[in-house]
Order: sequence, then structure tokens, then C-alpha cells
Amino acid sequence: MTHEIAVIPGDGIGQEVTPAAVEVLESLDLDLTFVEGEAGDAVKEERGEALPDETRELAAEADATLFGAAGETAADVILPLRDVVGSFANVRPARAYPALDAVQPDTDIVFIRENTEGVYSGIEAEVDDGVRTLTRVVTEDASREIAEFGFRYAKRNGFDDVTIAHKANVMRETDGLFLEVAEAVGDEFGVDYDTALMDALAMHLVMNPEDYGVVICPNLAGDMLSDLAAGLVGGLGLLPSANVGEDNALFEPVHGSAPDIAGEGVANPSAMLLSAAMLLDHLDYGDEAERVRDAVEGVLAEGPRTPDLGGDAGTDDVTAAVLDRL
Ligand code: ATP
Repeated sequence: MTHEIAVIPGDGIGQEVTPAAVEVLESLDLDLTFVEGEAGDAVKEERGEALPDETRELAAEADATLFGAAGETAADVILPLRDVVGSFANVRPARAYPALDAVQPDTDIVFIRENTEGVYSGIEAEVDDGVRTLTRVVTEDASREIAEFGFRYAKRNGFDDVTIAHKANVMRETDGLFLEVAEAVGDEFGVDYDTALMDALAMHLVMNPEDYGVVICPNLAGDMLSDLAAGLVGGLGLLPSANVGEDNALFEPVHGSAPDIAGEGVANPSAMLLSAAMLLDHLDYGDEAERVRDAVEGVLAEGPRTPDLGGDAGTDDVTAAVLDRL
């Protein structure tokens, strides 16, 4: 069965790392077709809208989407795209590779981030001169959906440690509900879990990441804690992610458009290639996903490496080395 993949490179280094992922997927000789869509800052400049309808439709109709990076127009691009694919869970694995000199080499954590509400609800207002507000939305349904996803993920993937991150002592209503629902789901699943205040958790993650496996988080906490974990394992160039819905999904690196290095050809393509491996898993190409992960891991171990990992290779050199191994 042919699977159609929507490819949206977006902004900055998205334009450099996305073609690398497509090249790797094409090399596997699977029954995949690719359709490319435009989105991002340049499209906004040219056409007045950052996410044209035809790109939205591509993502809606494809079996999965590969997304590069969003820049200044991120809120108008990636948030609606996550909505288009109906994604409610953002899966962000942060794993240290033995051959890299990670700050914390024992890190192997998967953040399961609620992806539809919280402080990213988009409900903001200027209520008076110099006074602006944001409405933090937490619903029982979305909290249950993410908690069930997280506990199921932990069970399927053999994780013993599940942690529910929250700040219910301060955000009593909103995180109070999130915590209450997530704990009930944990009890239903019969899985041991801990709960952790998200600020203290940030400290513990830095000092003892080996104590954590799956971390179920509200939206903003998941965004920040997974970037923190990126620092523990060697930087944003390494972290892939999946935005998973009922019957569609979008895969993207955790990093953004990295304007400081965009256009220089030195972006680390690993996060994007590992996102492509997650896409393969999603489409039930588990063996091929493993081959891509092995090839990326091999190159991380033996080089060539991009400057973020202390090397002097370009994106193309790393991609060619991964293709060689495949
Ligand atoms: P944006 O506004 O698009 O999110 P940003 O600058 O806030 O961009 P990132 O793109 O996430 O955030 O980048 C943060 C830092 O990590 C930058 O210094 C960037 O160069 C570095 N970085 C991110 N991704 C990569 C990558 N793939 N390879 C090398 N360095 C990277």
C-alpha cells in the first residue's frame, strides 16, 4: 500500500535538514510518495499568509507529515498544522548516545506532552492599557487522552518509571484537574507512577535524569523540560518528535529554525532523521526505522560530526555518511 507523505520544510534550517530526511527515506525503497508544501516566514512575506490552504490540505490528506522548522510565524504554522492532523500528544524522546560526550550520559527519557491546550490555548487579550491576559485551558477530556496515551506508551515500550509533571499547588484548578485525571488513569492502568512539581522536576532532571523514564506533562512544561533534556544529551540537533493524532501524525525535530546558523549548511540533520525514523515506526515500517536509527547512531559515534557536536562537517557530509551506512 502506497503511503503519501506531506513534506513541509518551513523556515531556516528546516530547508536544509528536511531534504536530508527525504533522501534517507527515498533510499529505503519503500512504497512512499512525497508531496511538498510551502509554509513559514517567506510564504507570509510573499502571499500574506504563513500557512496556505493547499499546504493545510496536503497535511490533512497525507498519511503522515514531515515538518522542518517554523520561524517567526511559528504560531500561525505549526500550531494549526498540529490541529490539522488532529494531534493531541507530542512524543519527545531525549536519549544520550554512548559515543557522545553528553552532560548526563544516563539520560533516556520520553516526554509525553499535552499538545492542544494549557497556556498554548491561544486565548489572549489586551484588557486595558498595559494589561494583557492569557487564559489557561485544561479539560478533563484532553487530560485523560494524554494520560492514557502516556501510560499506554510506557507499558508498550517497557518503561517502569512514569512521572506526572504538574504545578497543582499553585494552578489549583487547571493543574489540579490535570493531576487528578492523570493519577486516576495511572491507577486504572495499574502502573506505578510518581507525581512531581514541574519546577523541582527541572532540577532533578538535571541532577538525576536516570531516575526518569516517561514524563507526562502539560503543554508548556513539556516544551520546556524536553529542551532542558536536549541540553543533557548533546543539544537540540539530536531530539526528534512526533505529534500523534487518532489517524494522522506529524513528525518534526524539537529544534526551531536556528536563524543563527541557517543557510550555512552546518545544521545537524540527526534530529530530523530520527523524526523520519519515528514516521517509519508510525507507518509500521519498524525494521526500517531501526535501520535508520542504527545508521544515525553509527555516524554520531564515528563521525562525521557537525559543529554543534564539536566537528567541522556539513549537513550534506553527515547525510551522505548515514546513506552510506544504510
Ligand atoms: P526558533 O525561533 O525558530 O525556535 P531559536 O533560535 O529560538 O529558533 P532553535 O532553532 O531551537 O531556537 O535553536 C536554539 C539553538 O540551538 C541555536 O543556537 C541553534 O543554532 C542550535 N540548534 C538548533 N538546532 C540545531 C541543529 N539541528 N544543528 C545545530 N544546531 C542547532
